[in-house]
Amino acid sequence: MEEVFDVIVLGLGANGSSALYHLSGTGKKVAGIDRFTPPHAFGSSHGQSRIIRQAYYEDPVYVPFLKEAYRCWSEIESVSGKQLFLKTGGLMLGKEDAAVVTGARLSAETHGIAYEYLSFSELQKRFPALNPPSHTVGVLEKEAGILFPEKCITTFLEQAQKNGVSLRYEEMVLNIIPQDDKIELITSKGKYHTEKLIISAGAWAGSLAAGIGLHLPLTIARQALYWLTNRNSRSQPYFLPQNLPVYIWEYLPGKMFYGFPDLGAGIKIAYHHAGQPVKPDELTQKVSPQEIDDIMEIAANYFNMDPAFHSSSVCMYTNTPDSNFIIDYHPEYKNIIIASPCSGHGFKFSSLTGKLLSEMATGEKTTLDISPFSLARPSIW
Ligand SMILES: Cc1cc2nc3c(=O)[nH]c(=O)nc-3n(C[C@H](O)[C@H](O)[C@H](O)COP(=O)(O)OP(=O)(O)OC[C@H]3O[C@@H](n4cnc5c(N)ncnc54)[C@H](O)[C@@H]3O)c2cc1C
Repeated sequence: MEEVFDVIVLGLGANGSSALYHLSGTGKKVAGIDRFTPPHAFGSSHGQSRIIRQAYYEDPVYVPFLKEAYRCWSEIESVSGKQLFLKTGGLMLGKEDAAVVTGARLSAETHGIAYEYLSFSELQKRFPALNPPSHTVGVLEKEAGILFPEKCITTFLEQAQKNGVSLRYEEMVLNIIPQDDKIELITSKGKYHTEKLIISAGAWAGSLAAGIGLHLPLTIARQALYWLTNRNSRSQPYFLPQNLPVYIWEYLPGKMFYGFPDLGAGIKIAYHHAGQPVKPDELTQKVSPQEIDDIMEIAANYFNMDPAFHSSSVCMYTNTPDSNFIIDYHPEYKNIIIASPCSGHGFKFSSLTGKLLSEMATGEKTTLDISPFSLARPSIW
């Protein structure tokens, strides 16, 4: 059977589900296709929590996108009546000259974001969960917090479906065939024609794009995350969300771990980047005893806790060479839009990324200038 749509969204993780939600209000005939049943644990959007923050150490260019993303998160919360965001504040920790510290201050000062610069002794006093080395300082941003990724994706998809979008799960797109003014999709279950295609396939975006002549400079990294409980009952209250913000800790130059307060299953902690290359279809949820020992040692050193392993999960970063996103039209087929490679920091933006993708697919002017994420930028080639 062959079906015809105005827009098809290929991949319904963070970005695709949001795109589908935004498209669902446009009057277009829209479908979303995913090879699994989202939200699922095979891609990049699982693991119960994601950090959202605005004093963005990576680059001040992201801050206007973050402010708009916050607005979009609060819009979907009020449309759906669901809580998707928990404000905890956010701490960027490291030496005075650490990239997370100087970068967060630069973004905050460039864009007027309120923050506190905390000394070693203030950090100890305010956040007794932390056991920082004496050279540590912190940038504390009040508006930062936690998004619940599985709940966000479910909410986008439910709202999209309510608005008449067609959802296709457990259906894998096998082939994309650009035609004159349309695109043909061959899937594991059938055939589609669409005027516009959004490829938001996360770690699989590279192989799908290669099939239509676009060889993206992406590497996929395996990222393990861990939940650790605290055997020290005296210090346990320090780890509750009212007492411990989300944090990114640059413990050595360029090396970071990040984490979350205890939301019920222990603290969640993980390394940022440093993951080994992996093929997306070969990802398993296994972590080695050595990896567990290693993260327990980090927790025992940097926190006032007696850690015990609770559970783990494995996820993927889809990295670009400059660690910035790609959101652009296919250079040859302008009715194909590509958005996914989020280099391990894209979830917080996805409420907005979906809106931008919807605007691109319907030919509207985008809410913000997306040229920083262009495929033509020299820093990724
Ligand atoms: C461990 C970890 C921690 C992170 N922490 C943060 C954080 O704290 N803050 C933050 O902002 N970001 C964070 N990120 C990054 C963020 O989670 C990702 O950038 C984002 O979730 C990527 O979403 P996506 O929609 O691009 O990909 P995905 O959510 O992986 O979605 C891609 C979808 O495409 C589908 N698909 C692929 N190929 C096909 C096909 N051929 N046919 C049909 N469907 C297909 C897949 O099944 C999948 O559902 C983290 C990422 C990881 C892995």
